[in-house]
Amino acid sequence: MTKKEKMKGDMGSMQELLKAIPKVDEFLGWVEHVQGPIRLVKAAVRELLEEQRQSILKENAGRKEDLARQVLVPKFEKKLQDKLTPRFRTVINATGVIVHTNMGRSLLPHDAMDNLVRVGSRYSNLEFDLTTGKRGSRYTLVEELLCELTGAEAGLVVNNNAAAVLLVLDTLAKGREVIVSRGQLVEIGGSFRIPEVMEKSGAILREVGATNRTHLCDYEQAINEETVMLLKVHMSNYRIIGFTSEVSLPDLVDLGSRHGLPVVEDLGSGSFVDLTQFGLEKEPTVGEVIKAGVDVVTFSGDKLLGGPQAGLILGKADIIKRIKQNPLNRALRIDKFTLAGLESILRLYLDEQKALQQIPTLAMMGMPEEVVGKKARRLLRRVKKPLLGKCEVAMMSVSSRVGGGAMPEQDLPSRAVSLRPQVMKVNELERKLREHFLPVIGRIEDESLLLDMRTVADDEIAMVAEAMFAVFEVSGS
Ligand SMILES: *Cc1c(COP(=O)(O)O)cnc(C)c1O
Repeated sequence: MTKKEKMKGDMGSMQELLKAIPKVDEFLGWVEHVQGPIRLVKAAVRELLEEQRQSILKENAGRKEDLARQVLVPKFEKKLQDKLTPRFRTVINATGVIVHTNMGRSLLPHDAMDNLVRVGSRYSNLEFDLTTGKRGSRYTLVEELLCELTGAEAGLVVNNNAAAVLLVLDTLAKGREVIVSRGQLVEIGGSFRIPEVMEKSGAILREVGATNRTHLCDYEQAINEETVMLLKVHMSNYRIIGFTSEVSLPDLVDLGSRHGLPVVEDLGSGSFVDLTQFGLEKEPTVGEVIKAGVDVVTFSGDKLLGGPQAGLILGKADIIKRIKQNPLNRALRIDKFTLAGLESILRLYLDEQKALQQIPTLAMMGMPEEVVGKKARRLLRRVKKPLLGKCEVAMMSVSSRVGGGAMPEQDLPSRAVSLRPQVMKVNELERKLREHFLPVIGRIEDESLLLDMRTVADDEIAMVAEAMFAVFEVSGS
């Protein structure tokens, strides 16, 4: 057979194969029995049949048997199952990173969730003043609490901290100069870069100092008649070590007041409690930053604060008033669910012990190593026997991270269950646990999959065990 003839032969069989693909209506007849919204069923059928077509065209060949009903129907069922599975799902975070930006950052306490359900399913006084019967403002609902907890004169809350920074710059510095230290021109989470946010707001960036060192005189020399703000940005996710120098907030506040310039600090994480109690380095609390005399401070609701996604803006009354009046505020405003969650969290902070116990982010940071170890032992007891010969399991000392771009390099001593599979590669185990219907996310280290138990809730231990049994195809009892 010449090459040409062979091609012709293939083309012939290709045409035949294409013809052998069932028609959509025919296929729908085969799967009449399945449950599910008809549009998803049809979408799955069309997708599957189109895939068959493409693979025949691409591979220039194929087998007729692959188009048989008993082959295609299970493939369809898998596809439909995938379409019926919600895309936004819960996962078990066994990474030990507490404020995990990719896994939803902070978790809300149950009481806060109840409050969310309440305002979500009923009408509320979101913007209705119950005293006057007139239109009210959503910000006033948490402003008093925020002031009480931090000593700020006034405050408002927007969608997230990036929005908070944008709004502050837009209000105070549009078309004018803002002085920032070169070492603080950070990028957070890949898309939030201080210089770019500044550009969007229309503020003009005046960088001063060197990457590793900035002195008060650098700020002082850069001040001119166009200057409207001194901005300090928390370095959050990185650290300059060695020969370094930053201007302290009190010095900056002093400089600002001598020149009549507001000082704004983007604190990023922003904590209400002293972090040294968790064995972490000292970071000024929001209250301390306010006390130092900053004009405006911004921080996230869902990082160290442990609440819902939000951007908190606190500071001097006259400036906050201007920020509230900025029309951009309307586009960045906080929604009612967030507000409900935030108020619950803030009320917990009125009693710090309650906050430490009930706000999951704080509770996980404060969890002693022995308590994490207990959780690890509970998981081990469940899985050791059933996994015998399939996976070696052991307890290991590891380090958890606070995460959320807060405090790089700082570890919390923790305990993990290490899994060393004997019947598959560790990458395969990692993938299968991740693709389980309740995904379990750990991290691979030295041929083992580590499940850091600090971020695994008590009621998730049995679920992790179940996922492991499913992956190793053993029964748990
Ligand atoms: C995290 C962070 C932001 C962004 O906050 P979001 O709440 O994620 O919008 C801005 N600035 C600093 C310093 C941060 O750490």
